[in-house]
Amino acid sequence: MRKRFVSAIVPAAGSATRMGGEKQRLLLKGRPVLAHTLTVLQNTLVIDEIVVVARAADLEEFSAYKERFKLTKLKSVVLGGDSRQQSVSNGLAAISSEATMVAVHDGARPLVTAEEIERIVAAAEEHGAATAATPVKDTLKIAGEDGTVAATPDRSTLWAVQTPQVFWCDRYRDALKKAAVDGRDFTDDCQLFEYSGYAVHLVQTGYQNIKITTPEDMAVAHGLLGGGEMEMRIGHGYDVHRLAEGRALILGGVTVPYEKGLLGHSDADVLTHAVMDALLGAAGLHDIGCWFPDTDERFRGADSIKLLEHVIALLAERGFTVGNVDATVLAQAPKLLPYIDTMRENLARACGVKTSAVNVKATTEEKMGFTGAGDGMAAHAVCIIKEEV
Ligand code: MG
Repeated sequence: MRKRFVSAIVPAAGSATRMGGEKQRLLLKGRPVLAHTLTVLQNTLVIDEIVVVARAADLEEFSAYKERFKLTKLKSVVLGGDSRQQSVSNGLAAISSEATMVAVHDGARPLVTAEEIERIVAAAEEHGAATAATPVKDTLKIAGEDGTVAATPDRSTLWAVQTPQVFWCDRYRDALKKAAVDGRDFTDDCQLFEYSGYAVHLVQTGYQNIKITTPEDMAVAHGLLGGGEMEMRIGHGYDVHRLAEGRALILGGVTVPYEKGLLGHSDADVLTHAVMDALLGAAGLHDIGCWFPDTDERFRGADSIKLLEHVIALLAERGFTVGNVDATVLAQAPKLLPYIDTMRENLARACGVKTSAVNVKATTEEKMGFTGAGDGMAAHAVCIIKEEV
């Protein structure tokens, strides 16, 4: 008999329309949801390697998790497909040839425990396939076409399935092949397995193994992780850049059409600089000049949103998460209103928070002073950051 080797495939590509596709990187206790999930798999003795399936836009960032979160078992991060089945197939193509079992686990289920994973792997080893599942607590109804109850199934036989779902590799490949031949596309890996006529063993797991799907789930997850008291800290940032011809005008990561742009060593994104200084200030980490000196060639023309991501990582390492940010750009021209929403989205994404937690305003200074004369632009930002104590 071959030695047991379990490859975890973690779909993190999901359409995730309910939370804008960003749920994997929302921060729980200062770390992205996906990093929590991968850390549980890393620390579970029965898991031998991990393959993450991601969107093209996330490949680089998730690959960097290997070093950032010390995930020595993270073998690769591969591109997802158009459906969950296709994404898992892509993951399957990337696992080691010595793998005997595959454990598919949602990237957005950070609260699974190592003990649960071990029990499911043990059941799958014995039965060929096993899934995490819980008896349903609510009575379920089957709705009729007119919106009234058509039937009430017997609750005692109903289970809600979660992940991990663990399968023998050869059977899983076989099931995928059969589904592909028949043109079937399943959203649940167990269903794919059942379709091929294989039995799937139910393993009862805890109700804490939730999937982060809606914003409320984050609050629940935080509570379940044993969130302690939060201490809040405030920060302020201010920055100025001169306007010059022949430069792109970049504010909050948005290239704003204008006859001039801001002059600086990096992309001179004055708004993002003020936000970074506010965050660093709140964390007691000096200022951006200290972290990204303008004498350093690495930062020539740097994308300030990338620098902001780095600032957020510095904060996260110290246990800080962003509460909210409020910023004001001082500029005589051009009109910034059409670009404000995109600036907010860019900044919020880099900060790992909802767009509503980042506010950007723009004002003129009534033609007074250097912004009023069009010589330059300035930005102020304030923020709250939180630290668990
Ligand atoms: Mg600056």
